[in-house]
Amino acid sequence: MTTENVKTRFAPSPTGYLHLGNVRTALFNALLARRWGGRFLLRIEDTDRERGRPEYVAALLEDLRWLGLDWREGPEVGGAHGPYAQSERGAIYADYYWRLEAMDHAYPCFCTPAELALSRKAQRATGRPPRYAGTCARLSVAERQARLERGLQPTLRFRVPAGRTVEFIDRVRGPQRFASDDIGDFVIRRADGSPQFFFANAVDDALMGVTHVLRGEDHLANTPRQLLLLEALELPAPEYGHLALIVGTDGGPLSKREGDLSLRELRAAGYLPEALLNYLARLGHAYDRDEWLEPAELAAGFALERLGRAPARYDPAQLVYWQSEAVRRADPERLWGWMGARVHNQVSPEVRDKFIATVRPNLRFPADAAFWAERLFGPESALSADGQTAIAAVGPEFFIHALAAHAEHGAAYRPLVEDLKRRTGLKGKNLFMPLRVALTGETHGPELARVIELMAPERIRQCLRQAGARVG
Ligand code: GLU
Repeated sequence: MTTENVKTRFAPSPTGYLHLGNVRTALFNALLARRWGGRFLLRIEDTDRERGRPEYVAALLEDLRWLGLDWREGPEVGGAHGPYAQSERGAIYADYYWRLEAMDHAYPCFCTPAELALSRKAQRATGRPPRYAGTCARLSVAERQARLERGLQPTLRFRVPAGRTVEFIDRVRGPQRFASDDIGDFVIRRADGSPQFFFANAVDDALMGVTHVLRGEDHLANTPRQLLLLEALELPAPEYGHLALIVGTDGGPLSKREGDLSLRELRAAGYLPEALLNYLARLGHAYDRDEWLEPAELAAGFALERLGRAPARYDPAQLVYWQSEAVRRADPERLWGWMGARVHNQVSPEVRDKFIATVRPNLRFPADAAFWAERLFGPESALSADGQTAIAAVGPEFFIHALAAHAEHGAAYRPLVEDLKRRTGLKGKNLFMPLRVALTGETHGPELARVIELMAPERIRQCLRQAGARVG
């Protein structure tokens, strides 16, 4: 197989919004396809009629696009192997159920959920792992017929061959072996006629020409079942790689507070897609370089050998770090839109670019931009204790000198500061801090030279007078 034939896929079930965990799975598959010049496919696994919802489908398409994970084949873009939603593939599945039944690889099962639960309980009580006891595996044609006539709705079960060892090389975890005798016959079609995950997922991968599947480690135990199914159907199996799970900082499962966040929530909080890409691509995958990578570079450096087997630890500080990096790089037009109405209402469009250049190093989220817009253009606010101390230390004369220096030099920062130094005899922090507090109300913040250049001269004068009055 040449690498151009590589096809990877993301196959979400629309039972909720995309979260960091499944987004990372999507990203790894997209990066792998891109790295090898192959295709990335999207398939919607909407067979769960109770939990699946159409609005989640719309949301996940939008979220993936927002992140830049465009699929070359799938919903909305089409392709040669559609339809790409499993709910529309019933006729295709019917054909494969028929084949399995015809070859006696599958049989109808009339056991009720209550009977199955009872059987599992009995097995557990005798210390055996619960698996299907085979009650319906050898029903005669007449017995089946009688049950059907009683109006029972059977499921369809796959007959797992006895005494086999299923072996495969997991592209992340290495060689794997499973004994088929540990796997009970499993349901491939529910009593309501809908396909079970094992079946639809494996059949679709084969029919859609998927060559590589990266998915969560929680699916590892499903793989031998799927390989047996594909073998029975004489369909090609993809190569599987099972990704280590993401855990919280304490090593436990991700919590809502830590990482178990939907992409929507992260987007609403102001995260930029490139920040998430840079973060997620390193969550369980190692790059040579720790610095910022553009999407094409993320793909170029992606390799299966670099995927870790140990659980990947979610680190919120790292995510925020990549967010600052993304903000540092975003172009002004985009940042302006990202900042939102709270900034647009305070900052006039003429000073837009100057404002962005001034506050950018201090920004991580739109709320930070709103904070600085308020400080530099909004109504005056009360000073913090530190701020008050800083201006009290220099007294009202300092601000009279500052007004004079400003009258003389305007926004020309160097001359203004030199002049103020001469007039007050102060330097360093003793000089800059009271000036900063007077102009911004804060003891930390954007570069002072830029602040002075950005603020209207009238506002600067007013701030200096006000600071003088506060300590007068
Ligand atoms: N629909 C399955 C899930 O969301 C897909 C598993 C797989 O990638 O094979 O877990």
